[in-house]
Amino acid sequence: CGIAGAWNVVDSYNVIHDLLLALQHRGQQAAGVVLEGFKSVKGLGLVESVLTDERFVEGSKGIGHVRYSTFGSISEIQPISAHTLKGTIAIAHNGNIYDAPLRRKFVMENGGIFSTTLDSELFIHYFSIAPYTDPVNSLQWTLSRIPAAYALLVMHETFIAAARDPFGIRPLFYGRYDDGYVVASEDAALHAIGATDIAEIDPGTMVLFDETNQPKVIRFAERKDRFCSFEFVYFARPDSNFYGVNVHEVRKKLGQKLFEESKVYADVIVPVLDSGFSGAIGYSLVSGIPLDLGLIRNHYLGRSFIMPKDRQNIVRRKLAPIKSVIDGREVILIDDSIVRGTTMRIIVEMVREAGAKRIYVGIHSPPVKGPCYYGIDTSRRSELIASNLEIEELAKSIGADRIFYLSVERFKEVFEKCGVKGICTGCFDLEYPVQ
Ligand code: 5GP
Ligand code: SF4
Ligand code: MG
Repeated sequence: CGIAGAWNVVDSYNVIHDLLLALQHRGQQAAGVVLEGFKSVKGLGLVESVLTDERFVEGSKGIGHVRYSTFGSISEIQPISAHTLKGTIAIAHNGNIYDAPLRRKFVMENGGIFSTTLDSELFIHYFSIAPYTDPVNSLQWTLSRIPAAYALLVMHETFIAAARDPFGIRPLFYGRYDDGYVVASEDAALHAIGATDIAEIDPGTMVLFDETNQPKVIRFAERKDRFCSFEFVYFARPDSNFYGVNVHEVRKKLGQKLFEESKVYADVIVPVLDSGFSGAIGYSLVSGIPLDLGLIRNHYLGRSFIMPKDRQNIVRRKLAPIKSVIDGREVILIDDSIVRGTTMRIIVEMVREAGAKRIYVGIHSPPVKGPCYYGIDTSRRSELIASNLEIEELAKSIGADRIFYLSVERFKEVFEKCGVKGICTGCFDLEYPVQ
């Protein structure tokens, strides 16, 4: 998911709209905004089709959310709001509370009720039962009791707070804009609207925007950085930066490493657009093998992974081979990752039909072996093709002549060399930050 907020900004509704639009790749199923006074605009679908209501143009504060998940009704679109003794609050959450079922049970055993199935509603309950009357203290208490995973925006009548869990699993940034501040999941979104003084929120802290108009950084837990490496591999925009390191550059380095480790040669490198593009550039640069557009993509279709139904047809509608690039040649297809294998199986079939002599599939991350408990929908274990098959079987299953991945060791090395310390690699090596 993606989250965005604005504090003391003229026309905050439109500013949040623009931020969410720049974060659309993080979620395409629903969008929502809650403005000061707790007026909301929400709906299923893309930002451009949901956030059209101009009745709400007034107001200088608000938070918003774009959602990607596979279930939920219209009433469960974030941000969600509730009334408490400490005031009304609304929250927008990116991430999964990994132990939410246990915590919900605990709340319900003590008489609490839930109006949605969202794990995010837990924040509201904790806020309400916190042993303080002051809302800021209550929020701090709440955050110190929920270890992972969240990047969170909380709007209260008197403030907006932006927080990251102690592991910093999901990203969150803020910057200056107009006479106030804006917050977003990725710095690329803040750059897109022209925000300045952009800063990454420290894991284990919340940044409080209140009537002083001076952001206050409040630490509620010690930082233990385990930033999601999958944000770098696939999820984030290439023009975003985490820990001051550019996503596109990391993907290029992963592609370079993939060549250095595997030394697979062919006539041409074909990137699987869009997410495999940066890695393919890296692979081509170090190997000297030319990069060419053997597959083009239709930009009027969204991210295929995120659309739960009919994935096979979507891939065929989204990507198409260019025969003149592929026919009679040995081809290396470079993609960022394989999850269920559906995408790659269809691509290999199409590239075969276009006349490829041999097809090698290079993946610039390690095999996805386990699920993500922290907010990326990498499915249940049984659906993960690499958790069930050995490498030769895997190649056979997707119809390729060979498939090669980056090893976990080389993968981690790239992050260390780039200066990104403390990453989560749980879905690749099952070393989860919290179980
Ligand atoms: P598959 O068809 O193997 O399940 O999906 C792999 C393709 O979807 C790759 O091209 C990759 O770029 C993209 N993708 C991989 N992992 C994820 C994920 O966790 N979430 C989303 N949204 N897309 C993914
Ligand atoms: Fe990211 Fe994988 Fe860790 Fe989930 S398990 S947070 S997808 S690296
Ligand atoms: Mg892709």
